[in-house]
Amino acid sequence: MDQGSTAAARAHGGLTAAGVIRGARVMSPTGDFAAPATLAWSAGRFLEGQPAVEWTGPEAAGPRAAGAADFDGTGLWVIPGIVDAHVHASWHAFDAADRELLGDAGTRAATAAGLARTLAAGITSVRDAGGLTSAALAAVPATRRPAVQLSVRMLDHAAAEAAGGLDRAVDTVLGAGAQWVKLVGTAGVAAPAGAGLDPIFTAAEVRDAVRRAGDAGAGVMVHAWGGAAIDDAIDAGATSIEHGIFLTPDQAARAAAAGLTLVPTLRIYHLVRRMIAAGKLPAAFDARVAEAVAAHPNAVRIARDAGLPIALGTDSGTPDQHGSAPLEFDALVAAGLDPAEALLAATRNGAALLARAAGGTEPGGTEPGGTEPGGAETGGAGFGGAGSDTAAAGPAEASRAASTAGTLAPGALADAVLLRRDPREPGALSDQGAVVRVLRAGVLLDPRELLPDAADPHPSDPSPSDPHPSDPRPSAAPPTDSARRDSTPGGQARRDPAQRT
Ligand SMILES: [Zn+2]
Repeated sequence: MDQGSTAAARAHGGLTAAGVIRGARVMSPTGDFAAPATLAWSAGRFLEGQPAVEWTGPEAAGPRAAGAADFDGTGLWVIPGIVDAHVHASWHAFDAADRELLGDAGTRAATAAGLARTLAAGITSVRDAGGLTSAALAAVPATRRPAVQLSVRMLDHAAAEAAGGLDRAVDTVLGAGAQWVKLVGTAGVAAPAGAGLDPIFTAAEVRDAVRRAGDAGAGVMVHAWGGAAIDDAIDAGATSIEHGIFLTPDQAARAAAAGLTLVPTLRIYHLVRRMIAAGKLPAAFDARVAEAVAAHPNAVRIARDAGLPIALGTDSGTPDQHGSAPLEFDALVAAGLDPAEALLAATRNGAALLARAAGGTEPGGTEPGGTEPGGAETGGAGFGGAGSDTAAAGPAEASRAASTAGTLAPGALADAVLLRRDPREPGALSDQGAVVRVLRAGVLLDPRELLPDAADPHPSDPSPSDPHPSDPRPSAAPPTDSARRDSTPGGQARRDPAQRT
């Protein structure tokens, strides 16, 4: 353990960026679990020779050096850190008017609380699909949140118009530190039933956006329920299709051949239907959302059958949703993935997707001290600091990291979740009580220290066998302003839901 890590250990109050977990069942890169093994890491990366071989190096360089974690994992399971490839970490109400009401301080507090809950649930990386800025992210200590990639803001028709063209809007978010350009390619829940798949941007605009993003090393994520917007995203060389509810087998095959990833968001539409039923959203949305609920699982099976990688995404944007990615795992299984496939969607596929953005291996924490301004404050060795989770990595480093991203293989980023239940068991992964430790960039965290006192904000859904878990769960975070939304001016409030989900 080098001096930097020791300093980090002190800064983290005894937590370290090196360690070993002994005797746990460790997930393989294909989603299986073999006999109990030892998993060791140092400097934020899993070590060569592990997990199959016990550490045999010199004590001074080994995981049991002074201050390193040495954890007895007997009877436990280890999976790679969960990745939520589609979240709105700074959103705490369904529509923009309500989000405004929360104010800056309220939004900051809710964002920090939501990210802490997210990390406590075992989600070690997220990709923000719009809303979270670099400055807002920098305000959250890296020890209390997942690694985060940003898209800064969603680019819809209005954003493009306001900027004087989609090209300018793209350049603006890239200039603001976005690792992802988020294009809103079709309408969302507020369009009429049976309609709303018209592409919002032209094929030429999408191509140009992809080119600009590529020049900056950024990826492109396209919100597309279906139709020509999916075709255009594939043809333009976008990186991922978000939602993809009406994905066809032909599109899935072409997307797979072109190297895209599908990020379905199954559970959010159940939650939207519940909000409609509770009178919190217009009843007029219901027919279209019902179509989405019915069709979305098909897209998952179509993608799986076509060999199109599926990455887990929640679209979370309210306090009770943040940290709910394990419930989306249950929804993927309910849609037809087997548990091993769903585990890969929740880990490796999402990590591989995030690795495709600039320096995307994240947490700059591979270099003790990091390269970002926040490094000194946050201890450095384990975390990338507050400012940039994608601090530049060299091409070789990036390539190695991409090939092992989201696995427990030697060289992979030391992100993992230690569970007391077999994650393939229904409801186990979404049982917060089953999360024993979360390993984030080599730092072993106790999830209870990330959660508000006494409360269990993460009870699993009422019945593990419920194929469509959708109960909003109790939360210690500020309540949404949904009760007030009815009194907010209608225009913006009504328009916003069309632009998401
Ligand atoms: Zn979204």
